[in-house]
Amino acid sequence: MTRSGVRTTVKVRIKAEVITTRKRRRLEQITGRDTRIIKQYLKVTYHNEEQIVTKKKGKKKVSKAKLDHLTLITYKKSKLPKRPTVRHDLKKSFPRCSQNELQECRDNAVAIYHSQQANNSAPVKDPPLKKIPRTQLAHSKRFILTCSPSNSIARWWVGIRDSLDTKKNRTHKHEKLWLPLACSPYHEHSLHQGKIQALEVLYYPKKKEWWVHFILLHVPDKYFSSRPPAVLGIDLGINKRAVSALLTPKGAINRHEIRFWSDKTRKKLQKKKERKIAKLQKILAKTGLSVNKRNDLFHQLKSLRKRQRTEHKLTDHTYTNKLVKYILSVGKRYDLYVVVGFPIHIRKSHYRGNLHPHSRKSIHKWNYRRVTELLKFKLSLHGWEEYRILSIGESWTSSCCSRCGSYHTTRPNQPTFICHTCGYNLNADLNGAKNIAKRLIKYVLQPKYTSIKDQVSGKFFPLSSFRVFPVLSQWLQTKQSHLLTPGAGVRT
Ligand SMILES: [Zn+2]
Repeated sequence: MTRSGVRTTVKVRIKAEVITTRKRRRLEQITGRDTRIIKQYLKVTYHNEEQIVTKKKGKKKVSKAKLDHLTLITYKKSKLPKRPTVRHDLKKSFPRCSQNELQECRDNAVAIYHSQQANNSAPVKDPPLKKIPRTQLAHSKRFILTCSPSNSIARWWVGIRDSLDTKKNRTHKHEKLWLPLACSPYHEHSLHQGKIQALEVLYYPKKKEWWVHFILLHVPDKYFSSRPPAVLGIDLGINKRAVSALLTPKGAINRHEIRFWSDKTRKKLQKKKERKIAKLQKILAKTGLSVNKRNDLFHQLKSLRKRQRTEHKLTDHTYTNKLVKYILSVGKRYDLYVVVGFPIHIRKSHYRGNLHPHSRKSIHKWNYRRVTELLKFKLSLHGWEEYRILSIGESWTSSCCSRCGSYHTTRPNQPTFICHTCGYNLNADLNGAKNIAKRLIKYVLQPKYTSIKDQVSGKFFPLSSFRVFPVLSQWLQTKQSHLLTPGAGVRT
């Protein structure tokens, strides 16, 4: 989330089956030319790194102005100092491309260079035949999106500037390449959610389809509530997807607001797929298979795993949507802060030979980070600021009693939790969720703390963001004094 808003992408297919051959050829020409220009820009950048790239705090940054000095001549009319010749004259090698389009390609190339540097990946001198899309910006009126309800071919059309008919020496008014879009009501709804900022035209060679990606900017109204403050603690789990408990200003967990989030039908389907994969792996482990048979099995395994991955993603989306709906409904009644437990170093402790292989397998497959990120993103679309959805370390929350703060506890099996000091007996995940909610207040009240770290994004939020908590702290000091005794609650 940026300061100005949230960016999302809406993907719409172009109805390529109804456009004329000429239009399709033009589309291929434009995208192919853009790819070549972007590659050329990348080549120039890599060849002249010493001249163009500056290093700041260990990060390499390309100076766009210096790159222009190497690639673009300036017109006679412009007020800029004249540059009649440059070393790599792109206008000369691509005469049918306008200045604006060249600059859009330059921005794309610079972005690609930065991402390659950030990932430490080797420079791709000759990338495969895949087309690189150019980002066309809306503010310079590069494209138009229109709706024509009476049109029988398509309801929505996008007009892209077709600059291929540029004449070299005289100005020419460019025609627009009008492309019909396969817009469903879902697309229409999401296109209305934000302001269109940019567009990319892509070709998917596997599907043999053309797609348009619209980049939207959402500027939602800020979430603000003058109601009493409350904290919603969420404990993510493997068997139960999540447990949530609401800590209200009365000083206790609201008994009517305890929720268990799980989906059994999906789990059954996933288990079925896992069994299939295991079966294939067993066959592959055998010796004496022919090469063709082996390749065929590998192909099957690959597609199965891919399907499994997408299914996992879909499941995460469906149940975070449910959670978001619930959080928004609670947010209307309270000035709500959401805390999600984050198991730090859980994968490090479950190494080979340490614990049971079965639990290790399930923990390494557990996607707690993606769920938290999705939750943050979906709530940010509703104007929730980042500090309202925090993820903090959940170590010791499962073994501490949420009523008395004692560590003299046992878990005879996975779901049950028993405290031997006060005799409290409840669901272990619920106990964790309660502790997580209380931990945020505990952090805010710690005298030595000045900020709280978000474990997912790694950002620090000053305690002044949690201005409402002095109100909550009053009852904590009176009613639940054990939280403030040293050693209890926080142990990391
Ligand atoms: Zn207890």
